[in-house]
Formats: sequence, structure tokens, C-alpha cells
Amino acid sequence: MARNKQLATATVRTASSFPAAEAVDIAQLVEDLDGMLSRLRLGAIREQLDGLLEEAARRQLNLREALAWLCAAEVASKEQRRLAMAMTIAHFPFVRTLEGFEFDAQPSIDPAKIRDLATCRWVANGDNVVLLGPPGVGKTHLEVALGREAVSRGYTVQFTTAMELLGSLVKGQQQGNLEMRLAQYSKPKLLVVDELGYLPLEPQAGHLFFQLISRRYEQGSVLISSNRPVEEWDEVFGDQVVAAAILDRLLHHSHVVTIRGDSYRLREKRRSGLFRPQAGGSSSSGIGAAAPPTPAKEA
Ligand code: ADP
Ligand code: MG
Repeated sequence: MARNKQLATATVRTASSFPAAEAVDIAQLVEDLDGMLSRLRLGAIREQLDGLLEEAARRQLNLREALAWLCAAEVASKEQRRLAMAMTIAHFPFVRTLEGFEFDAQPSIDPAKIRDLATCRWVANGDNVVLLGPPGVGKTHLEVALGREAVSRGYTVQFTTAMELLGSLVKGQQQGNLEMRLAQYSKPKLLVVDELGYLPLEPQAGHLFFQLISRRYEQGSVLISSNRPVEEWDEVFGDQVVAAAILDRLLHHSHVVTIRGDSYRLREKRRSGLFRPQAGGSSSSGIGAAAPPTPAKEA
């Protein structure tokens, strides 16, 4: 109780005119330091204070340098927390990075193109990216990696699958809250839509997706992946006109990356001897690469 009163007195003094150093009870201020750091939300400085001060003394920093050193620790910690929170909000299904992507394993991808996309200029411009290719060639990996790059550059990102997104919009239409759901998916600067074309869609899904794409058009970016070439999207949406309207907006300012080649997962399995290469060689391209492999005979 008494301590709180003292702290309040010190604060009031600070708020008006701070008295000369001689008039201040420095010992009391030091005692209140933890509380003041909390109040100023300087949690990193509070938690690491002893270590930071020891390091400042060891390096013989002057007062201004020491203050900068403490502030840098707080800024770094806040940035780390912001990043962790934004990554959580983005809902990535797993952690994948561009450093972890083996470009040698997927020669149809131009590393320079992906590195250029990693600068996120396309996100700043509200452009779209379309990743096409058979299963297992790294589409989701690249979506997560590029999405993380966008988060680390301060953009809001949301990752979802085509099924989840379209299921939600269909539900919104049925429950009369479509508007709210469209607004929600229009908010992030980058919306990542994974796996379009894997599963059949509801008949009205194409129309709802068109509404979303129209809203986001030239406002926010869409990063979308599909195992089906865009020529087949009328089958995916079950409506030629709607598919053409979606593609018109999606592709207007866009980068299309077409990946050809073997599934990375199956390559790994083949290497470990779990599967035999398919007759006619292991290297095939296009969707045919997804054909079920032949299990290796038990040794
Ligand atoms: P897709 O989405 O095209 O079906 P994924 O991105 O899910 O494929 O890839 C399947 C798995 O293989 C993931 O664990 C992914 O990280 C990994 N993978 C795919 N391609 C590569 C690559 N070129 N380098 C490293 N890992 C890869
Ligand atoms: Mg995938």
C-alpha cells in the first residue's frame, strides 16, 4: 500500500516538473524501477535488466550508449513478439522457408523468379501469384514460405484452403452472414488459398469465389495453388462463365509459376528404396507424375 503511494507520488512528480537529481530519492526510484518498467510496457528491459546492465558495464558504455542498448533490446523483443503473433494469426499449416526449398529438386522452377517474389513487391502492388503443378511438387511449401516473407515484411496474411474458404462462403450464404465472411476474407493484404481443384465444389462456390476475388481485385493479393491448369478451371467451378470471370481478375496483374516434375515426397521415398521407379523411367512430368508408385518388394 505504502509502496504504491510512493510510486504514485514519483509518477505525479514526473508528470509535472521533474526535480533536480539531488532532490530525488534515487534509492526509492531504483526500488520502483520494476514497476515503472512494467507501466511503460518495457517488459524485455525489465526481464533482462541485470544482464543488460552488466553487459553495458562490461563494454564501458556511456549513459546515452547504455540507453540505446536497452532500447534496442526492447525493440527487438517487441518485433519478435509481433512477428510470432502475426505468424499465428496467418494460420500456416506448418513452418516452411525458402532456405529449406531445394531448387535443384525442382528444375522447372526459376530460383530467380521465386527470390524476386520473396521481396513481396507483388504484395505491395496488390498483384496475385498462381502456383500450378501436380501434387507433391512444393506448391504449399512455397505458399507458406512466401506467406512468411510477407508477414516478416509487415503485411497481414491469412492462409486457408480452397475447401475451407469456399465451405465458409457457402455456409455464409445459407446462414445469411455472407457479407461478414466476405469482409473477413477481404481484410488481409495477402490471402493464401491452397489446393484449388483437389475436391469437387458446391455448385454456387464459383460464384461466391468470384465475389471475393472481385472485392480483393487491385486491393489485396491472392496467392493461390492448384493441381489443375487454368484451362480446366471451368470444370473445377462447374461453370465456364464464372471461371472466365474469376481468371480475368485473378490473372490481370499476376505472376504464374507452373511447376512440372516429380513429387518431392515420392522422390524421397524412392531414394530410400520404399518405391521402385515406375516402368519407363522415374522422370515424368505433368499430372501423370502423381500416378501411384509401385511398392518395392519386401527384401
Ligand atoms: P504440393 O503442395 O505441391 O502438393 P508440398 O508443398 O506439400 O507439395 O510438398 C510436399 C512435401 O515435400 C512438403 O513437406 C514440402 O516441404 C516438401 N517439398 C516439396 N518440394 C520441395 C523442395 N523442392 N525442397 C524441399 N522440400 C520440398
Ligand atoms: Mg499442397
